[in-house]
Amino acid sequence: MRMNPVELKYSFIEMLTGSDLSKRRLPVMVAKSKKKGPVLWLTGCMHGDEIGGTVVIHEVFKKIRKYLKQGTVYALPLMNPSGFENMSRTIAITREDLNRSFPGDKKGSLAQRIAHKIFEAIVKTKPTLVVDLHNDWNKSIPYVLIDNGIKTTNSNVCDFASACGLLQVWDKDVLASSLTFNLIQKGIPALTLELGESWIINEKNINSGVDVILNLLKKMNMITSGNMHPLSATPSMFKHKKVHYFSLPLSSASGIIRFNKKPGETVKKGERIARIYNAFGKTVETLTALEDGLVLGHVDYAIAYPGAQVMAFGIG
Ligand SMILES: [Zn+2]
Repeated sequence: MRMNPVELKYSFIEMLTGSDLSKRRLPVMVAKSKKKGPVLWLTGCMHGDEIGGTVVIHEVFKKIRKYLKQGTVYALPLMNPSGFENMSRTIAITREDLNRSFPGDKKGSLAQRIAHKIFEAIVKTKPTLVVDLHNDWNKSIPYVLIDNGIKTTNSNVCDFASACGLLQVWDKDVLASSLTFNLIQKGIPALTLELGESWIINEKNINSGVDVILNLLKKMNMITSGNMHPLSATPSMFKHKKVHYFSLPLSSASGIIRFNKKPGETVKKGERIARIYNAFGKTVETLTALEDGLVLGHVDYAIAYPGAQVMAFGIG
């Protein structure tokens, strides 16, 4: 079937002028169908080391330039270029977390000023849905994260979360200065995707992210179902499952962590999840699951210390 031509536009939002007078800008991508319809925003690389979402956006745009039948898809593929170039989560100069700086403030800190520009650009288009793309630990499974504290304000969020076809995880903390939380407060449905490992491009996780976005485009009737392909990276047992994020127990000893459970495996309460060994190889702590659950991921480092996080779980 021949679709209406899709108009593609690449532009920039001015961010700041550097000390060398260079213009620092945020790239903006737009794919617009001739036919009016829903508005979807995709945002990537809020955390400079989480570059997978940027590639998901590139791949989605390759598809929708042919198959978008109504509406507009906007994307900010690289929201934190200075963090990306410095291989850091935060904004390079100030070490601020951009995703703890929303809704932003045009007279505030550097991160708040950038957040303000992003937030204004998104809100003025009256989006149907905003999807913020992130990456998690190196060893973690993909999931859709739903903001805590939103049930009363927007049930659409839950409908879109179900349509993703991924494991659905309710966040444990209220992140009042995240992008998604602030959009939801304005009545704009928003979701966070956690698509596996940071730092590098894992093609399996990219496929999973692209599939989720295609599922959402289909739900909004922005593409035809004939352009869909099945989820490639999500074990079918997790599809449509809903859990709560849980990150205990923490380590109480110092030493070397060796894990007994892998991301995607289920655990029973009381089951051993990891052991911590001292420099002589003696076990100094055995960590056991506090609840029945599903392992979402484990930390990137082998080092344990009192209070260190070890593993994250989805629990019922
Ligand atoms: Zn992130």
